[in-house]
Order: sequence, then structure tokens, then C-alpha cells
Amino acid sequence: MTESVEYGPIESPHEEKIVRVTVPEMDAILGRPFRILDDGFVRVVDYLGGDESIVQAARVSYGRGTRRLHEDRGLIRYLMRHQHTTPFEMCEIKLHVRVPMDAWRQWIRHRTANVNEYSTRYSIAIDKSQATSPDAWRRQASGNRQGSEGLIPPEVGARLSERERELQRLARQIYEERIEGGVAREQARKDLPLSTYTEAYWKVDLWNLLRFLGLRMDRHAQQEIREYACAIGHEIVAAWVPVTWQAFLDYTVHAVRFSSLEAEVLKRLLSGDPAGASDLARSYGWLERDEAKGKWKRHRERSEFEVKMRERFGYAVSWSR
Ligand SMILES: Cc1cc2nc3c(=O)[nH]c(=O)nc-3n(C[C@H](O)[C@H](O)[C@H](O)COP(=O)(O)OP(=O)(O)OC[C@H]3O[C@@H](n4cnc5c(N)ncnc54)[C@H](O)[C@@H]3O)c2cc1C
Repeated sequence: MTESVEYGPIESPHEEKIVRVTVPEMDAILGRPFRILDDGFVRVVDYLGGDESIVQAARVSYGRGTRRLHEDRGLIRYLMRHQHTTPFEMCEIKLHVRVPMDAWRQWIRHRTANVNEYSTRYSIAIDKSQATSPDAWRRQASGNRQGSEGLIPPEVGARLSERERELQRLARQIYEERIEGGVAREQARKDLPLSTYTEAYWKVDLWNLLRFLGLRMDRHAQQEIREYACAIGHEIVAAWVPVTWQAFLDYTVHAVRFSSLEAEVLKRLLSGDPAGASDLARSYGWLERDEAKGKWKRHRERSEFEVKMRERFGYAVSWSR
């Protein structure tokens, strides 16, 4: 037999009135869909906390009675710079997203979110596929096997878009035939294209959301998912936690990171020793000559360094032979 115990509020010197953190800018956009691609969207269903919750959590971890060393903004920026991640995890957001399945396949790899996706075993698949306009077909990148660069001419794109329409129409038609013929939804769907839209509720804490945004807003991410990430970042996170967002832009998105190898080369360049920089780069295996073509052979790490120097500092690295 368990004894019956009565639980109730205790009298404590630590009691204080806590007011739920709300962010008027977020309340203003709750439920409002932001259009992405031709028929996708992202909208905020709910959120927990704001910039001030991060500060509140961080101060608890500093311990009661500790002297306040920073203003809120300074503290958040400090936490971000030094990757003190847990205070950011105190904020959460729940989004409702509508995404083509190919972008969703990348999205769902972010394991730290809670997800509930529309079930095409249970329900009829959404009757909408993402369509590409004639001027939006991208060329395969030559330097990056995963990427694209430049566009296919729109006159060629017109034909590609027409064939896309045919394919999507046929796939849908066959799907519906199967459904009408009594085939189970879980099997009827198997030939639907990856361009078919799906929907999901996606809940994640702020730190892991920033991780998602850092990876998916980046130019190495596929354009389609990048459009979602940029909308979430610039339209939603910027409204929700403006101080954190700015710190994230400053210390992650627009920050430049150098490896120790790069830093050594940079040190020589800054000290006016380009020949020494080249010798060092050569010792790393960055500089091998293709005599037939009269240029350096491609080397990924070297070219990443060159891109950083050019794009962030307007500095064209010139290697000596
Ligand atoms: C440009 C780009 C190209 C990509 N190419 C490919 C590809 O070719 N093939 C492919 O399969 N994937 C690819 N991915 C997916 C990538 O490898 C990651 O799976 C995805 O970005 C999710 O990142 P994440 O694990 O950091 O995120 P989350 O799953 O949200 O995890 C966040 C962080 O939590 C921690 N964590 C989460 N789960 C674990 C765990 N089980 N064990 C230990 N730590 C954990 C890690 O620190 C992790 O960084 C690519 C991603 C990008 C951005």
C-alpha cells in the first residue's frame, strides 16, 4: 500500500513570479505561411522562449548571486562565440513545412528535430509536384560533383519543363489508377516522383536549428533547400531572436575559418613573403604543375583557400613556381 501524499506549492525564499516569454514579432507571424518554390511554404505553429530566455538560462548556469558581467547582448554574443550551446537549446520552435520530397530527404537528415510527416500510407499523396520553369534548369558544376553552376539556356529549358510536366502528369495518373483499382496507398505511391510535395510538423531547439541553417543556407547546399533555410533564417529566426540571429550571422555565417595550414601560408603572405608562402603550399602538395596546360593542377584545399582570400579580402593569391 502506498501512502497518500499531498503535493502542493511550497513556501520558498526562491519563489518569484515568472512571466512567460513572448515575442510580439513572432506572434504577428504565427500561422502565416511564407511561400517557397512554386507551392511550398514554411510557417510557425508555435515557439518557446526568445533572446531573454537564453540569458535567463545562462545566468542560472553561472550560479545565483554571481555578479552580472555582461549586458544581455554581450552575453549572447559571448555564448555564441564560445559555442556555449545549452542556453540556446532552451528555445524551441515548431514549424509546419511543405517541401518537395527531394529537399525533404536532405532536411530529414537533421536528426535532432522532432518530426511528424504527412502519411501517404494513410492518406492520398498530395496532388502537387514542384515544377521547374524554363529559365531555372541549372547546369552540372564542373568543379563540384555535388553542385550546380550557371543555367541551361531557356529555349532548352522550355523543352525540359515540358517533359517534366508530362512525367509528373503520367506518374500522377498511374498513381490514381492504382488507387481506383484498389491498390493499397502504401504501394500505389512507389512511383511518384521526388518532386511530389510532402508536409510535416518540424520541431527543433534553437541551437540545432542554427546548425541546420548554417549547413543549409550555405552555398554548398542545394538551392531548393537553401530557399527554405534562408526564409526560416531571415524571416523567422531574425524576428524571433534578433540578438542571437545577428551573433549567428557574425560568428558563423559570415565568419571565415582558417586551418592551421592555411594560417601558416597566410602568415607568410602578410609578412610580405609570397615565395615562402608558395614553398609552404608546395610542401603541402597544393602546387603541382600541369606543364601541358601551363597551369597549376586542381587542388581542392588550395582553391578553397584562394576563394576565401578573394571573396572575403579581395586578395588574389598568386603562387610562384
Ligand atoms: C552540403 C551537404 C552535402 C551533404 N552530402 C551528403 C552525402 O553525400 N551523403 C549523405 O549521406 N549525407 C550528406 N549530407 C548530410 C550530412 O552528412 C548530415 O547528415 C546532415 O547535414 C545533418 O547534419 P548533422 O548530423 O550535423 O545534424 P543533426 O542530425 O541535427 O545533428 C546535429 C549534431 O548533433 C550531433 N549528433 C546528432 N546525432 C548524433 C549521433 N547519432 N551521434 C553523435 N552525434 C550526433 C552531432 O554533433 C551533429 O552535428 C550532406 C549535407 C550537406 C550540408
